[in-house]
Order: sequence, then structure tokens, then C-alpha cells
Amino acid sequence: LFITLEGGDGSGKSTQARLLTEWLEGQGRNVLRTREPGGTDVGVEIREIVLHHRGDIAPRAEALLYAADRAHHIATKVRPALAAGDIVIQDRYLDSSVAYQGAGRVLGRDEVRDLSLWAAEGLLPDVTILLDLDETVARGRLDADNKRFDRLEAEKNEFHARVRAAFLDLAAAEPDRFLVVDATAAVDTIADAIRARVARLL
Ligand code: C5P
Repeated sequence: LFITLEGGDGSGKSTQARLLTEWLEGQGRNVLRTREPGGTDVGVEIREIVLHHRGDIAPRAEALLYAADRAHHIATKVRPALAAGDIVIQDRYLDSSVAYQGAGRVLGRDEVRDLSLWAAEGLLPDVTILLDLDETVARGRLDADNKRFDRLEAEKNEFHARVRAAFLDLAAAEPDRFLVVDATAAVDTIADAIRARVARLL
């Protein structure tokens, strides 16, 4: 079972990934909790380049770095875990690339999706949780975390609006795969909604 969490910065993905992992492990399931970018040793190095490089990276180069991270991560970590029967809970996957690089950086959603699917040899999640959050709320949440807030500030409002809209479009196009959750709801309310959706697949 391959579960991904998507959404903007500050939408609570990692909190929900942790809660879902604890819930599943409490039922005796083997869970691999992982993320992109940075889910492998190679990925950690790629994440460092793509998020902390001083200066701009050309948008296509950025898209290829995310794709390289993904190719290595899926081949060496996610597929083996799925083959072993483990549940994989992953923070960000190809929908992030479509939203950030495809829509945000305007590289084209279809092109970026094709690139991602090539990188991952066609692997799609069984379920994708989209934590939908308004940009202004996200900014407020990230205010306390200076480094992340600075990066978010550096990117334009319109960029994040495009990203959010793209996530919602993706969810609307694949309603069977996606569960869209209002990320302003209480943590427990969101966790319950995610558990109910995942329980149907167990
Ligand atoms: O959620 P996480 O901290 O892993 O995301 C790191 C950052 O990478 C996000 O703030 C997002 O802006 C960026 N990102 C991106 N394109 C992706 C995945 C993440 O721009 N495909």
C-alpha cells in the first residue's frame, strides 16, 4: 500500500504522516515513513542542492534534480518496501512536482508528470492525501520557523496560488486516488479523516 501526502508548506503533512504511521504500527503493520526530496542518502545531497543552493537553479534543472531524487528513492527504497508487503507513507511525491515545477515554475503539468512517471517507472500511489491550505494561513503558520518562512517569502504569492490550484486540479482529475482535507481543521479531525480513508484499503 503506497500512501502519499501532498500540500503546501505548513499544511501539516509531516504531523499527519507521523500520526498515520503510529496508528498503523499500533495495528502491527510494518510502515516505511519517507519523503521526497531527501528520502535516501543520495536524496539528502540532492535536497541540499535544490533547497539550499546559493543562487538560482534553472527551472528545468530543478525539475530534473527532483526527478533524480525520485528515481533513486523509488528504485532503492520504496519499491523494495512495497515488494516486502510494507505500507509506505510518503511526504510529497509526483503531485508536488506537477504542482511546483509544472504549474509553479510553469514548465507544463503534463511534461513534468511524464518526467516523474519515467523517473519512478510508472509507480502511482494507491491513495494521496491533499492537505489543502490557503496561502495566507500557511504564511502565518510558518512565521515561527524563520528559515522556511524566508524561503516562502522569497517566492511570490502568485507562485503559491498556482501551486495550490494545481494540487486541487490534480485531485479533481483523480477523485478515486485523492482525499482532499481542509488543513485548517483540528489535527485530530484530519487524522480521523485520513484513517477512515486508509482503513478502506487495508
Ligand atoms: O515539505 P518539504 O519540507 O519536504 O518541502 C521542501 C520544499 O521543497 C517545499 O517548500 C517546496 O517548496 C519545495 N518543493 C518543490 N518541488 C517539489 C517538492 C518540493 O519546489 N517537487
